[in-house]
Order: sequence, then C-alpha cells, then structure tokens
Amino acid sequence: MIEEKKVAIKKIQATGQMKKIMSDYFYELDAASKAGSPKIAWCTSVGPAELLSSLGFLVYYPENHGAMLGSTRAANNYIPVSNSVGYSPDICSYLTSDVGAFIKKETPLSRAYKGIERVPKPDVLVYNTNQCRDVQDWLTWYSRELKVPALGISTYRNIGKITDYHLESIVRQIKDLIPPLEEVSGNKFDIDKFRSTLSLSKDCTLLWKKVLETNTAAPAPMSFFDATIQMGPAVVLRGSEAAVRYYEVLLRELEERISNREGAVEEEKFRLYWEGMPIWGKLRDLAELFISLKTSVIASTYCNSWIFDSFDPKDPFMSMARAYTEIFIVRDENFKQRYIEELVGKYKINGILFHDAKTCPNNSNNRYGMPERLEKKLNIPSLTINGDLNDLRCYSEEQAKTNIEAFVEQLGAK
Ligand code: SF4
Repeated sequence: MIEEKKVAIKKIQATGQMKKIMSDYFYELDAASKAGSPKIAWCTSVGPAELLSSLGFLVYYPENHGAMLGSTRAANNYIPVSNSVGYSPDICSYLTSDVGAFIKKETPLSRAYKGIERVPKPDVLVYNTNQCRDVQDWLTWYSRELKVPALGISTYRNIGKITDYHLESIVRQIKDLIPPLEEVSGNKFDIDKFRSTLSLSKDCTLLWKKVLETNTAAPAPMSFFDATIQMGPAVVLRGSEAAVRYYEVLLRELEERISNREGAVEEEKFRLYWEGMPIWGKLRDLAELFISLKTSVIASTYCNSWIFDSFDPKDPFMSMARAYTEIFIVRDENFKQRYIEELVGKYKINGILFHDAKTCPNNSNNRYGMPERLEKKLNIPSLTINGDLNDLRCYSEEQAKTNIEAFVEQLGAK
C-alpha cells in the first residue's frame, strides 16, 4: 500500500484574474438578460460561437453551467427532477442536471455572483451536433419551454478523412443560420466583424494550446485538474480580448514555473494521460490523491478540445467548418488512436487513465478496444475508471482510489 500524506494543491496565481473576467462575463450576461439588450444566444460548447458574437449576441454556454452544477456537487439534486419529466438517467448528466436546475429555478451562479438570480434568458438557442445528439435535445427542451427558436448545424460524426463534401455541407448550414440570426439580433451580418472575432478566437486558441504544451516540460507545471478550471475563458470567452490577455498572463506564470523547475506535483515520478470527461465533483480529491502518489496527470483529450488550429480569418466560413469538424470527438477510432499515440509520445506519458463516463458515451473512448490497442502498440499500461461527469451515483470513490493506487504501484514496478 502506498503511504498517503496530507498534500496541498499549488495555487496558480493568475487564477484571481480569471475569476475576475469570468465574473465580468456573467454580470454582463445578467445585465443584458434583465435589460433585454444586447440579445443573448445560448450556444453549445463547440457551436458557431464566433458567428454569434460577430452578430452582437452575448453568448452563454449551457455546458459550462452543467460543469458548474457538477463541480459544486449540486447536480444530484437536479438530475431526478429531469428524470421525473421523462429525461432518462442514462442520457447526458449535464443536460439532466441543467434542465432539473432550471425547473427548480436554481443556479450555482446565485451563490457565486451576488445579485444574479437566474441563468440569462436566451433570445435564440444554437447547437452543433458535432459532439453528440444530446445538445440538440437539450436546447430544443428550452425552445419548447421558453418559446425561443432553436437553430443548429447537423453535422457528421465518426469521420476519418475530412473531405470537401463534409465541409461544404457545414459551410452551407453555417451560412443558412445568418438570416434568422440577423432577425433575432436586429443586426446585419458583417464579414469584417466575423473575421476579427475569428481572429481573436484563433489567438485565444493558440495561446491555450501553448498553455497546455507547457506540460511537455518535466516536471509539468500544471495538472489536468488545474487545466479543467483554467480552460474556462477558452470555452466561454473565445473571440474576446479578455481571454487572449488572460492566457498571456497564465502562460508567463507557467513558463516561470518551468524555468524554476517547479512542478504541479512535487518530485514528479510518473506522468499520466486522462482520456475522457472530468469527474467534476471530484477534481480536488483526485488532484490531491495524485499529488500524494507523486504522479502528474498532465495531458488530456478533454482540455485539448478547445484548440481550433484551423481558424483562418481570410477564409472564415470554410476554416470554421474545418475547425469544428476536425476536433477529436467528431472523429473515427483510427484517428482517435493516432491522436492519443501522438500525445503520449509528446508528453512522455507512462500510463493512460480512461474515464468511462456513464452518461457520456461520446467522450468515453474505452468502449471499442482502445485501451487494449494502445497498451499493445505503446507498451504502456492503462486503467479504466468508472464514473460520470456529473452524476456521482455512478462513481465509487473507494474503488477508484484503490485502483489508482494499484495502478501507480504497477507503474513503479515497471
Ligand atoms: S458530449 Fe457528452 S457531456 Fe457533452 S453534451 Fe454531449 S453527452 Fe453531454
């Protein structure tokens, strides 16, 4: 049995600045919701956010709210409420916790931000099914409930090679969104604004990529658990100056840690890859457990999902279609396997943790033989942890802890 010591998670100093820009973001949405202007669009996490911002919408992300419900461990108060109106406990627990909270007229935003009583009221709901069907079902629930239009892009899934016919269809769908969005926003589409928003989004994405890549250093300056918090601006503020400025500051701090050989985990012995969704309600416990085991979880598919390399302001529609199609979750098993193989090499990974999230098959990549294929090809071990992003009834802390400790012992023996 590995001895477990009391440990402290190292604070990232820039986080104070992140909290400020996130707070400004939510207060701006709240003010717009109360005043009825500017208009508010709800958008799925990898939906066409830059188009919405360029049309003057403030953009709100229900998945971010879902993650807040998970990280505050409130989700299990609300999932049964959604179940009672017919939404299965087996479908996305972001959806069921968010809808349940809405029905109960509660939100963690009220506790975090004084004066905010509810989530901002949408004027339009926009989804992209590139990640899953649940996002469409989620936003159409709100559409029926609030009598607000739901528009979307229905796209391809499980793609190997991305071809022109994939992208041309998506470009047409993005362009088809413009007339109804102009009508709701009251603003005319302006290609220059679209280009400049995309350009800011690209700057944000490239900085976020550099932030994540600081973890190629040994010891790694930031853990996966830190990164799930630090990715907030890349998710909800991409396309804004504030996000770009923030990641410049964060990057400087992490580079300084590298120069000082200061790791997120003292005396880092092993480096792991996290494949799948975070277990939002257990981030702190898991971070502490890995610190006590002198093991860094340093790379993940999840945090990389907000890298959109292909954005090109010179070719905004096509490059947006490409960027939102080439992400990991949209791709087939062969692509996913190559992707993980590449990151395992780049980050000098000793083992892979697969999180099998009960309510998100889309982000559970252990189900079609991936762990076995990777173990064989890379000659490194993997461990599957059963759990969920938000529904903690699916997660056994004791069992996960025992398995993780045994896994790290196995790494030591290897
Ligand atoms: S990808 Fe998974 S977690 Fe995200 S919305 Fe879809 S089902 Fe939910």
